[in-house]
Amino acid sequence: MNRIFLSPPHMSGKEQQYIAEVFESNYIAPLGAFVDRFEESIQAHTDTSHALALSSATAALHLALRVLGVGEGDYVLASTFTFIGSVNAIVYQNAKPIFVDSDESWNLSPALLKEAITKAPLKPKALIVTHLYGQMAKMDEIMTICRNAGIYIVEDAAESLGASCEGKQSGTFGDMGVYSFNGNKILSTSGGGMLVSDNEAWIEKARFLSTQAKEPYLHYEHRALGYNYRMSNVLAAIGVAQMEVLDQRVQRRREIFAQYMQELGGIEEIDFMPEITGGRGNRWLTTLTFADTAPGRVIKALDAVNIESRPLWKPMHMQPLLQDALAIVNGTSQRLFEQGICLPSGSSMRDTDVHRVCNAIKGAL
Ligand SMILES: *Cc1c(COP(=O)(O)O)cnc(C)c1O
Repeated sequence: MNRIFLSPPHMSGKEQQYIAEVFESNYIAPLGAFVDRFEESIQAHTDTSHALALSSATAALHLALRVLGVGEGDYVLASTFTFIGSVNAIVYQNAKPIFVDSDESWNLSPALLKEAITKAPLKPKALIVTHLYGQMAKMDEIMTICRNAGIYIVEDAAESLGASCEGKQSGTFGDMGVYSFNGNKILSTSGGGMLVSDNEAWIEKARFLSTQAKEPYLHYEHRALGYNYRMSNVLAAIGVAQMEVLDQRVQRRREIFAQYMQELGGIEEIDFMPEITGGRGNRWLTTLTFADTAPGRVIKALDAVNIESRPLWKPMHMQPLLQDALAIVNGTSQRLFEQGICLPSGSSMRDTDVHRVCNAIKGAL
């Protein structure tokens, strides 16, 4: 039987046509018309005024912290239940992360966020909040807490492009937002990221830093430390084609979730990741926990019938790399990590594939 992958790239068919246009124009690199079009399509879809196409979401988060003035010794709050790309930029900047645990939504707990702000040795400069597995964090409460404390908000929407709450897109609530187009995300350019904000000056500063911080002279003058973080025109062409099918991709991932729910929801020990009131996640990955069964056993059983699945993210406060960081935890993310798995959720899956996964899980239990 063919292998069912967790979340493989799903091309629309238009990508190669747009890449051919890039080759015809010979604007292979560095920039070109498709980079502008990709940025415009993100602005239009998310209703933000400014967007910057970059080599990865990790790069976008790094630029966000640079632009917000986060530097050596500053504290930055962050979701602990996330992927390392979410928090590496804090370390790149020699700043200090303070990890905050999740609540019943699996995303950042507003109550623990408040506690973390009180317990921080210095007022934190910013918060990086992840919309985990494409499901919305409680942005209303989180925004109020951070606004009252004078803390910038950066949304890690790497997994949640197309998710929304009360019609407002993930990534557009805070001061800056970040999307990823890595190989396994809901859309893929093979690799890439996007930084968005309504603050034009911040995006312009990030644009400047992303292209080696070249001062406006012909002779290459440099006063600030920059990076080589811009996206190539070839990859942006893929991105433009992918954006044309974003709504369909979200709809299909939600259908896949609904089928898993229908086929497995009746099993007593299974709990799916919830959706907050008013939230409409993109269901990037369908994720669930088992009350009694060790997830490792299920992952092995699925692999034996050629189905890829994964444990949930190992929380940042449990990572050896970050063990010295402050962490305000309640055990939630650790419990989820120990009990949960991610199921194959690619938008190219057929109903029969989802059914095959469900049968394999039932067999394993
Ligand atoms: C994938 C991911 C990133 C990193 O994205 P890249 O584009 O691969 O750098 C960051 N945060 C989260 C939550 C992610 O899932």
